[in-house]
Amino acid sequence: MLFFPLLTTFVSPANFDFHCHSTVSDGLMPPQEVAARAAANGVDCWALTDHDDLGGLAVARATAEELGLRFYNGVEISIEWNEIPIHIVGLGFNAEQPELVNGLTDLRSGRLERARRMGDALAAIGIPGVFEGARALVTNPQLISRAHFARYLVSIGIAPDTSGVFQHYLVPGKPGYVTHRWVSLADALGWIHAAGGVAVVAHPGRYRMSGGEMRRFLDEFHDLGGQAIEVMSGSHSPDHVLHFARLARHYAFHASRGSDFHGVKESYVDLGRLPQLPQDLKPVWRLLQ
Ligand code: AMP
Ligand code: MN
Ligand code: MN
Ligand code: MN
Repeated sequence: MLFFPLLTTFVSPANFDFHCHSTVSDGLMPPQEVAARAAANGVDCWALTDHDDLGGLAVARATAEELGLRFYNGVEISIEWNEIPIHIVGLGFNAEQPELVNGLTDLRSGRLERARRMGDALAAIGIPGVFEGARALVTNPQLISRAHFARYLVSIGIAPDTSGVFQHYLVPGKPGYVTHRWVSLADALGWIHAAGGVAVVAHPGRYRMSGGEMRRFLDEFHDLGGQAIEVMSGSHSPDHVLHFARLARHYAFHASRGSDFHGVKESYVDLGRLPQLPQDLKPVWRLLQ
């Protein structure tokens, strides 16, 4: 009898991917298709992490379980810290928890007005109708993102691909970029923790921060109870991986791994198709049992 518990011991995942998007935010595939693609690519432990919205989790979980994937609830929350837009992934939370659910509802409500201002800014440089065009590409009316603007601008021939559109129109300093008030780091972590989840810094290599700023940000994240950072990310270079592995060790953070897959034509890295974490790091799934 004493030996039976061994049979239910958690099997370490061989290929976990804890960052990707569906049509509930700015991904190109509905949650059930993202689940199927993850399984087909050999992912065995998965979280869907749509921007600021939990609407895909029930279907994602049901499909994942049918396909034999271990599934965790996920979300990618848009925050600002020192006026820098940053993304925090929440994992393994209770998706019914009111503080989290209501906080995200408020956060989403600002997106439409921001999108209108983006449309106005682009009209002012002679590209009219972009708000309407982008809105027509949105599946979830509460979740209009710059990715939808980029897709519409590609469709009218403004640039050959979405990364070209971002570079010339949609990043700070470019004509279609408008500032916006997202939530604070403390609020986002408060919601995730209230719902029993783990907070992870998404793609830290993507932020325009000095080394000192990154340290101050990670100090605050740590002091607020943040426990992990993405070391292996679809948007990290090999140098980023080495750098953030060092920072994970320094802060004793757990490490996450996520493709940030949005769709076949848009993402360089497919679901589950990225290198393993450095062996000595503590994988974040260990916090989720
Ligand atoms: P938003 O949340 O509306 O600010 O949009 C952010 C989303 O835009 C990201 O999650 C990506 O999907 C996309 N994005 C941001 N920067 C780039 C970029 N340089 N190239 C392609 N897509 C990008
Ligand atoms: Mn996105
Ligand atoms: Mn992101
Ligand atoms: Mn993402």
